[in-house]
Amino acid sequence: MRLDRFLSNQTPLSRKALRIQLATGQVLVNGKIIRDGQFEIDDFCTIQLAGQLLPSKPAMYFMLNKPIGHVSATTDPQHPTVNQLFPPSLASQLHYAGRLDRNTSGLMLMTNDGTWSRILTEPNKKIAKKYWVETANPICQQTHQLFADGVHLMPEDITTSPAQLEQISANQAWLTIYEGRYHQIKRMFGKMNNPVIKLHRHSLGNIQLDSLLAASAYRALTLNEILDSL
Ligand code: URA
Repeated sequence: MRLDRFLSNQTPLSRKALRIQLATGQVLVNGKIIRDGQFEIDDFCTIQLAGQLLPSKPAMYFMLNKPIGHVSATTDPQHPTVNQLFPPSLASQLHYAGRLDRNTSGLMLMTNDGTWSRILTEPNKKIAKKYWVETANPICQQTHQLFADGVHLMPEDITTSPAQLEQISANQAWLTIYEGRYHQIKRMFGKMNNPVIKLHRHSLGNIQLDSLLAASAYRALTLNEILDSL
């Protein structure tokens, strides 16, 4: 890849600002000043910009509208995976930041940047996750109280952070939770013996599912979405 292309993928700087950085000797490849933006680099080069080391592989960040039926895994012997919704050359490089159950749809974030996905899914970060939920039975008042107080989950022996439940109709609600425990929402409603029949993730932190993305479609995150994500 060309050095100038790499720099514009990896930094928020404009082309003009990058040309200035190159011309003024602020860009080092393997410790040597390179002023030519057309200089070819590879995955093994170390690149510094104004004294800062840049990650050498171009980072990629996508949002995916996960359809029902795909599993959150890179490979699976039985079911199609979320990675298979990407072309093979991309699929082999990506992993997800925050899983969804096979029968849950909606926003998934996919990346090759392990540092970013680790921070985003770090339990102490308590990132808000907003879901559209439909239940088999009407959602009763005790559910609101239980979710606001926190739900005790076994075997983890944790109590969930106060969750926001905004009821839209007898059986439909928006629910915002702050952890990402296995089957968490189903287990929360399970405490009220109310099975979840539809679950769709609308947002993760500041990143909302793009309403123009059909089920199974994906797009690259915008620079603002990446910057606002942590
Ligand atoms: N809670 C669940 O029960 N399932 C999901 O996929 C996400 C949250």
